This record gives sequence, structure tokens and C-alpha cells, in this order.
Amino acid sequence: MAQAKLSVNTLRRLPQYLNYLHSLPGGTPHVSATQIAEAVGLNDVQVRKDLAAVSQGGRPRTGYETGLLVRDIEALLRLGGPVRFAIVGMGRLGSALAQYGGFSQYDLHLAAAFDTDPALAGWEIGGVVVRPADEMATHCQKNGIRVGVLTVPPAAAQTACDALAGAGVETIWNFAPAHLSIPAGVRVENMNMAASLGILSRHLQQRLDDTDEREGSSA
Ligand code: NAD
Repeated sequence: MAQAKLSVNTLRRLPQYLNYLHSLPGGTPHVSATQIAEAVGLNDVQVRKDLAAVSQGGRPRTGYETGLLVRDIEALLRLGGPVRFAIVGMGRLGSALAQYGGFSQYDLHLAAAFDTDPALAGWEIGGVVVRPADEMATHCQKNGIRVGVLTVPPAAAQTACDALAGAGVETIWNFAPAHLSIPAGVRVENMNMAASLGILSRHLQQRLDDTDEREGSSA
């Protein structure tokens, strides 16, 4: 398999390709970059380039052997072994994420959950016991947890982010709408579902405007 250094954008697109490949009927022998591009709504050249960086199995007229392509993409996304992550803030969003079964597809394993609310301590959610937030450092270090998911209220986000960094966590997936001062050596990926939906609704609005314009000009 090719070992090229992949851009973050390529890494973001790979799960879309994988979802499509998994949706193909069992036994589909070959799949082309064009077919994938059409299915996921991306540019053909872009998909071709991404696939060339992750798999050497592409052939000019036949495309990629489906099984091999799946294996190559999965191997890349799996980072070479299970990655243990912790969720900090086990309210509505944290609990929902803890119960999501799709992380294992990427070898991500929920290993711990923390919350400052004493009423939540000891509850089992998503297969892990919620622990008091002050146990974060000891527990994360002891259990080799290197990824943290931040689902606390915005006002608590910096404290929780610092606590995760202090616990040795190197990557934080932050859902709190707060500007974080990022500790040295830590990478933060901010998530905003409302913004994603906002972008979609702008696209939709744009499409409606274009249709109105076309109809207006042909009237
Ligand atoms: P929630 O109030 O239901 O849960 C927050 C939890 O965090 C509570 O259980 C609370 O006890 C705990 N908490 C507070 N301070 C803590 C600390 N220092 N350490 C550990 N735990 C702590 O809130 P929610 O609805 O689950 O939302 C959680 C966060 O996610 C909020 O910041 C919200 O704005 C954000 N959110 C983001 C998106 C998105 O798309 N990015 C979507 C939904 C919610």
C-alpha cells in the first residue's frame, strides 16, 4: 500500500469513500474513481488523486479491486492499533456520543468518561463508568488515553481542555462553542454541527435563487 503523507482534507474524505464502498452489493468486483466521485458528489480528479495516494490497486480500465481498496482505506484510517479516547462532559451530547457504535469502525475505543456532576459519577453509559473529573489525570495516564472529546458547557471548556492536556491527552475533539487557548503540543479539532447545517441551508438557498433566476429569465 502507498505510504504517502496524506493531507487532512484527504483524510476527511476517506470515510465518505469507505461508506460508499461498504454500501455496494457484496461481491462487487471493481469500482472506479469516477463511480465513487459521482456517488459522494465530489470532483473526479480529486477522488482519483486521493485514491492514488492510498492504494496502488488502481488499473486503467477496470478501476480498483473493491475489497483491496476497502482494506487499504481502512488500514490508513485505523492508525495502526486501537486508539483509546475519553469523553469529558457526560450530559446530553457526551452521553449520545458514548452510545454511538460507529467509532469502532476506525479502531477508536471509548475508554473513559468524566463529569464534574457528582450525580453522574458511577453511572454506566456507553459501556464505561462515569468518573469524577478530578480523576482524569491519573486515569488517562494509567490507561494510555491520548484523545479527548470535549462536551462540556462553553464556560467550562478551557478548564476541561487544560485538564485533558495535563492528563497527557494530545488530541482534543472540541464540541463546546468556546475559543480555547490551546496548550503546547495539543491539537484541537473544533466541531460545529450548527455551522454544517447552516452551510447546507445556504447551498439550498443558493439553488432556490438560481432556479428562480432561470425561471424568471425564461418567462
Ligand atoms: P449538558 O449540559 O447536557 O452537558 C454538559 C455536561 O458537562 C454536564 O453533565 C456537566 O456536569 C459537565 N461538566 C461541566 N463542567 C465540566 C468539567 N469541567 N469537566 C467535566 N464535566 C463538566 O450540555 P450538552 O447539551 O451535552 O452540550 C455540551 C456542549 O456541547 C455544550 O458546550 C454545547 O454548546 C455543545 N454542543 C455542541 C454542538 C456542536 O455541534 N458543536 C452540538 C450540541 C452541543
